[in-house]
Amino acid sequence: MPYQLTIQSVIRHASRLFSDTEIVSVTADHPQHRYTLGDALERAAQLANAFKSIGLKSGDRVATIAWNDFRHFELYFGISGYGAVTHTINPRLHPEQLIFIMNDASDKVLFIDSMFVPLIDAIRPQLKTVEHIIVMTSDAAAVGEYLMYEDFIAAQPNTYPWPEDTDENQAAALCYTSGTTGNPKGVLYSHRTMLLHAMSLSQPDALGMGRNSVILPVVPMFHINAWSIPFVCAMVGTKIVFPGPKVMDFEALTDMLIAEKVTLTAGVPTVWAGMAQYLQKSGKQLPHLERMVFGGTACPPYLLDYYTKEHNINVIHAWGMTETSPLGTCNTVLPMAATSWSAEAQRAQRLKQGYPVFGVELKIVDDAGAELPWDGKTQGYLYIRGLWVCDGYFNQPDSRGNDWFNTGDIAVIDQYGCMRIMDRAKDLVKSGGEWISSSDIENIVQGHPDILQAAVIATAHPKWDERPLLIVVPKEGVQVKGEELLKYLEGKVATWWIPDDVLFAESLPINATGKVQKNDLRDIYKDYRHADFG
Ligand code: AMP
Repeated sequence: MPYQLTIQSVIRHASRLFSDTEIVSVTADHPQHRYTLGDALERAAQLANAFKSIGLKSGDRVATIAWNDFRHFELYFGISGYGAVTHTINPRLHPEQLIFIMNDASDKVLFIDSMFVPLIDAIRPQLKTVEHIIVMTSDAAAVGEYLMYEDFIAAQPNTYPWPEDTDENQAAALCYTSGTTGNPKGVLYSHRTMLLHAMSLSQPDALGMGRNSVILPVVPMFHINAWSIPFVCAMVGTKIVFPGPKVMDFEALTDMLIAEKVTLTAGVPTVWAGMAQYLQKSGKQLPHLERMVFGGTACPPYLLDYYTKEHNINVIHAWGMTETSPLGTCNTVLPMAATSWSAEAQRAQRLKQGYPVFGVELKIVDDAGAELPWDGKTQGYLYIRGLWVCDGYFNQPDSRGNDWFNTGDIAVIDQYGCMRIMDRAKDLVKSGGEWISSSDIENIVQGHPDILQAAVIATAHPKWDERPLLIVVPKEGVQVKGEELLKYLEGKVATWWIPDDVLFAESLPINATGKVQKNDLRDIYKDYRHADFG
């Protein structure tokens, strides 16, 4: 049957089956908003009617700059269900990048959280295509000169004839990469790619979501559709708890996890590191939390140990990219590992980025493009292809048509198909012709009790070409010596991997998705000279 895999098909299914599923949110105008998936979809229908009233066309881009909450959720369904494209934008981007992105995407309508009104006021004259700006609030005092969301939808009917003939290959969402060099690049997701991805994400060996799970997505809805979690919830009826702007408020996050009996949460390691500190200080427990997904950067070993041992939580390490929707690999415990591997071997396996899920394929290749063996030792450039991997970038026709996507990561794959990221290709340190993984060293040093952040960059060396330089930010009020950190690495990495020098910093440059900007670090320390130069 020519059944189209569309957001509209999810709306039909969820309206019939899961109208009672709860959605809880924190927003600026509602410290604790509660309603149901049925309510959300009725308001998504009001949105679609409102879009019709302003003459929005199928395929037009509608931008959002917002935290994770119930109105953002309604927009995901209202915009794509109407046939337009949900263009989520990261509020942490530099204003110049915001302007570039909105003009590149030719956004017609822009929805923002009230706290971003001043940001938009400042750049509005440079937004060439935006015709309507709508502030996601019920607080008339917070909208400035723009339209209030609740007024935009108020007069509209709460039913909408969601089209059944939308082509599943039509674009449904757009997200720009965080762009470490040059301008950010747009990645378009179709209805089909998003739903296939969401179906795969819900599987037991990935997020394992269903009617009996409760999820709190810390991963932002402005970056890669919060890994598609909102769509999965509507497909399988999972209760959602949206933290709104409280993503770095560890007390609030912890209290939500406890009060709403959250069973599953997903976020980047930086968030889980902050929460670990808060939990240690407060002595609070997480009695309902069963699984925690770590993605975006590598899971540091000390955090795997902490959440596994202290809270009995199943830590799931996952890897992906904006260009891969994002799910590429997910780590699950192998049956034979659980029964016959040593604890140390199991731990090492759990720290890898995991197994490709059905729907994507991986390969590692050498400099000449020749495929390398899956032996757990050989490192190569990681390539991916699959049902939800982009073949090029929006507005860049020359970039399209690739059979495999070069991830820019260096990886090893073992005999079981478990992939381990060694580093971003450009961040590896090449010492005496051998690669040193900067991320491995960083993850270990971050486990030191006195260290808040750590980064390793390559610096020039007269004999070895490059040597690793360790830059650390100690925790507030502690004194730590460089030699102590180098000693801490002994026995944890090969001796020749241990950096020769440690520098102390007050902070590290962080990009809009919370990752350390190695390009900026290399720039800051470009005058560093290794002692061996004499
Ligand atoms: P982005 O497209 O901004 O989400 O960044 C994608 C990149 O983040 C990947 O190419 C990896 O380098 C990195 N990344 C994502 N997940 C992980 C992970 N679990 N471990 C290590 N690196 C990761």
